[in-house]
Amino acid sequence: MAARLPTTPHADGVLRLVGATLVDGTGAPPRADAEVELRDGDVTYVGPRRAPAADVPTVDLSGRWLLPGFVDAHVHLSMVPTTPEEQRARFPEEHVLEVAEVLRSTLHAGVTTARDLDGLTPGYRDAVARGTVVGPRLHLAIAMLSPTGGHADPVRPNGSLPAWAVRPGMPAPGVVDTDEDVVRTVRSLLRTGADAIKVSTSGGVGSPTDDPDDVGITEDQVRLVVHLVGERGGRPVTAHALTDAAVRAAVLGGAASIEHGYDLHDETIALMVERGTVLVPTLSTLLRELDPSTASAERLAQRAALHARGLDSVRRAVAAGVPVALGTDAGVHPHGRNLAELARLVQVGLSPLDAITAGTLQGARLLGLEARLGSVEPGKAGDLVVSGVDPLADVGALADAASVRAVLQAGRVVKDLDGLVTTAS
Ligand SMILES: [Zn+2]
Repeated sequence: MAARLPTTPHADGVLRLVGATLVDGTGAPPRADAEVELRDGDVTYVGPRRAPAADVPTVDLSGRWLLPGFVDAHVHLSMVPTTPEEQRARFPEEHVLEVAEVLRSTLHAGVTTARDLDGLTPGYRDAVARGTVVGPRLHLAIAMLSPTGGHADPVRPNGSLPAWAVRPGMPAPGVVDTDEDVVRTVRSLLRTGADAIKVSTSGGVGSPTDDPDDVGITEDQVRLVVHLVGERGGRPVTAHALTDAAVRAAVLGGAASIEHGYDLHDETIALMVERGTVLVPTLSTLLRELDPSTASAERLAQRAALHARGLDSVRRAVAAGVPVALGTDAGVHPHGRNLAELARLVQVGLSPLDAITAGTLQGARLLGLEARLGSVEPGKAGDLVVSGVDPLADVGALADAASVRAVLQAGRVVKDLDGLVTTAS
């Protein structure tokens, strides 16, 4: 698979980080009083603290925890927290600058790599790569594929577009019916620079004319998508799938991962284990609470039933050994609180250490970037998070971006609340 590493500017020279407790992202137990050496932005040494070297800038991180930069495998960074009416009244550049702020807050939450699964266009990825703005390294689906009237189709019954679908710079929706439509849409997404292809094999929540139980992209069309990306060096194919039938269609068609998966039957779980299909349960979005003062009693009851069914489904998948990667659906979930998902993953049966691996090395694997990202090991990029709280004792504390005291990306300091790294001596 020819996954492109999304780049960012890197630091020059040598830097040593010493004294922190290292949680390296591989699932290995924490290492107290560790040393990590970075050279020109890459990790060159990981191990016990060595004798100090003269002339090598060294940062003392005693009393802190050092982790890999996190990977959020499911975000929508172009969904900004304003009403559709406000958005429509804005100039395009106001939207672009607000997305830039979302990129910054996501990075400052500890997410150094993010996969945007609908909405974000390649200009943002390229601006991060050039260093024009700070933000996570970006992998993009650009748009998702569904049939007419499916999850990707914003058109209302009378043919009009809802206000949320009229945004400056939004990519065209991936509405496909025939195989010919699928071929043309996948090839044009690849031409535009998609790093992943997202299909909706079920209906969704919040799209105007469909229902979660509706059939979306079929198993044969998933297979066709996998074939098409295979002709162009390969890209991960991921499926939005809310029902068991939708998950089966995606898994059998060859998708690398399932987004949501709230109604899994045990046979489908066994199939995912057999094929190594990754589950991205986006629990932060599943479990978000509706406002009881505005939601109807019926809506609240539906919500409670969905929570219970979804949690049961994901718990059984985790217990059976389905690989899990962290994804939040940020945009629906508030931006900048991505690591709230870690405590949610613990809620469905992962240990805090495994939740961290789901948010680091597993995410990098899913994106095809594990050779360079996802753990603190020699040969990898120096994407690091410095935590002020013990993430194994209180994994929920990382939800608060203030617990993330510093963030490095390719060795470059992009957040440093305590001035620790910036004043290295
Ligand atoms: Zn989503």
